[in-house]
Amino acid sequence: MECLRKIKFRTRPTKDAVKPGNLPEENLSLSAPLIQLINVSRSYFNGHSSTEALRDVNLNIRAGEMVAIVGTSGSGKSTLLNILGCLVPPSQGQYILHGRSVTRLTNNELADLRRGTFGFVFQRYHLLGHLNAEENVLSPGLYVEGEKKTLRARAQMLLSSLGLSDRLHFFPGQLSGGQQQRVSIARALMNGGDIILADEPTGALDTKSGEEVMAALCELNAKGHTVIIVTHNNDIASYAQRLIHIQDGCISSDTGNHPASSTAGPRGGPGLKPAQGSSINMLSGWVEAIKIAFSWLVRKPLHAGLTVLGIVIGIAAVSSVIALGEGARDRIVQEISALGADTIDIYSGKDWGDIYKGSNKALSESDVDYLRSLPYVDSISPVTSATATITSKNANLSAQVLGVGEAFARVRGEVFAQGTFFSSDDVKRQAQVAVIDENMRKRLFPSWEDPIGKVILVGPMPAIVIAVIKNTPSSFGEAPVLQMYMPYTTLMSRISGQSFLESIVVRVADGISNELAESNINRLLELKRGSKDFFTSSADSILRSVTSATRVLNVLSISVASISLLVGGIGLMNMMLYSVAERTYEVGVRMAFGARRRNIMQQFLSESCLLCIFGGGFGFLLALLAGEILGGLQTDFPLKFSYWSFMVAFASSTVIGLVFGYIPARNAARLDPVEALSRA
Ligand code: ADP
Ligand code: MG
Repeated sequence: MECLRKIKFRTRPTKDAVKPGNLPEENLSLSAPLIQLINVSRSYFNGHSSTEALRDVNLNIRAGEMVAIVGTSGSGKSTLLNILGCLVPPSQGQYILHGRSVTRLTNNELADLRRGTFGFVFQRYHLLGHLNAEENVLSPGLYVEGEKKTLRARAQMLLSSLGLSDRLHFFPGQLSGGQQQRVSIARALMNGGDIILADEPTGALDTKSGEEVMAALCELNAKGHTVIIVTHNNDIASYAQRLIHIQDGCISSDTGNHPASSTAGPRGGPGLKPAQGSSINMLSGWVEAIKIAFSWLVRKPLHAGLTVLGIVIGIAAVSSVIALGEGARDRIVQEISALGADTIDIYSGKDWGDIYKGSNKALSESDVDYLRSLPYVDSISPVTSATATITSKNANLSAQVLGVGEAFARVRGEVFAQGTFFSSDDVKRQAQVAVIDENMRKRLFPSWEDPIGKVILVGPMPAIVIAVIKNTPSSFGEAPVLQMYMPYTTLMSRISGQSFLESIVVRVADGISNELAESNINRLLELKRGSKDFFTSSADSILRSVTSATRVLNVLSISVASISLLVGGIGLMNMMLYSVAERTYEVGVRMAFGARRRNIMQQFLSESCLLCIFGGGFGFLLALLAGEILGGLQTDFPLKFSYWSFMVAFASSTVIGLVFGYIPARNAARLDPVEALSRA
């Protein structure tokens, strides 16, 4: 105690330390008070009853004073201090600070005033538990424009000056009460803290720590800070030169109130110069908010994980459904293209199953000749068919026989296992030749026998086998049909007796769009024939209708998966609301140190967006993993992940973060600072 008294004596002589430079209004006289309350009253309404916490308070405090406000519990001390700190507006009366009325200032202006002028020290320190000492001290600095390196150096210097240089990286839970309170004093000084407002700063401390804290406050006063302490402890009050008693909301006595002397003490130690700065702008505000949110999230991984679990599942579901849709479409495209992506079939009749198909209006050889002359037709073949019994030495079977032109093999891109296709000459002279596929070869001939040159019976007609076509593997399964081709002239005259063509197949020249060729053929053929008594079909048009059908399915399944994303979003909102409620006092602390509502909003929105982006990324990875596993199992569910689906996942998680994070963030930003602080 003796040594503390010494400190007290060392700090006392600096009372009334006023320096003209401290006053922003240059025309103020030296004796003008820093703080002036004129007839200030404050009432609280609770439902029907109202409490008058302060009544007609008149008070002047000069720069550099050290004032203790004492009184019993409930007498209105804290209310007075909160009014002084611009945390609570007076219900009536005038508050004049630096010669300027603060009564009508906006929320932002009040926040700026708190940030630049006041430093709060609370009874229970109100340090943010997830930040270490240095970060706690630095936190008010985040709302000021300024180089972060300088601010960090300032935070370290402040902590060192309070004897905490070896505790920079300790978390509040690892510090004693006295140390925590000293950290909170350093935090109060971060942005200058011209006026230190301390509400029961020693209330939660043992005597020794309390004395240390008071010594620190006295020292600050000695350096020129105005210090206002609220206490109900007379020992603590005796550190101040001026004692204001308050009783039932009124000032009952005010002792030690001396007029200002102009002998100002030194203002601000070398490092204690206020870090004045304008409020942080929008962009840096976002950057800082994202950093704050990030540091919270990395320290609460379990909380973050649980909050975002629904989003992870939702994004995983949506992106795998998208990938499945894309994979399936690719697979279908592949299979349909294998059927002949660049061929067009032209049929007689108006549509499939047209009863006039077989009439004399059917497609004819002149149509074939006409189409053959078109520049974008690579090759063309008439097609006609019949079912016939085919007999060889070994077997007797029923199969479809196609009568086609000599260019058919080229049109279809057939590959030969043996022999070559028949020629135009064979077509002209109705040659009795047959081309069979591998399936039929297996059925008609023993494996060791060469079928080329062998004679078989097609219906009643003998024909010589001249070639074997390779079966193209199709993922629709090995074609179970047995296929045989012969010149259409032979088939029509010798087997079916049919005189018309069933269809014409055209191969479109390379580099020409199939769709374009198809529409051209339709137009020209209609002109030539005089009416639209035919229709076309191509792998391309099948592809188009199949893809539009799969698109509908895709949209449907994506919508279903989106429901899980929606549920995830609602879960996120719920957790964020809970998180805001749990961290209400953090919001109060940040507001007390000058965070604007916008800053708080940005902080919580960044948090929900970051959560969603991480959750979305993780969900996408999960979907990728599922795709790998399914791919490895060679299942029929090919997942295809594209850049596009990643962008969709990213965008939708950001949007969900913004949408579902908005209400919690707004709730946080709308909190009343004093009420928020009282919920600690
Ligand atoms: P002290 O700090 O001296 O203990 P306060 O200033 O906290 O006293 O409170 C003064 C009076 O105002 C008390 O009767 C208290 O119940 C009332 N009061 C303080 N804050 C509120 C509030 N937010 N709502 C309603 N009444 C309040
Ligand atoms: Mg109180």
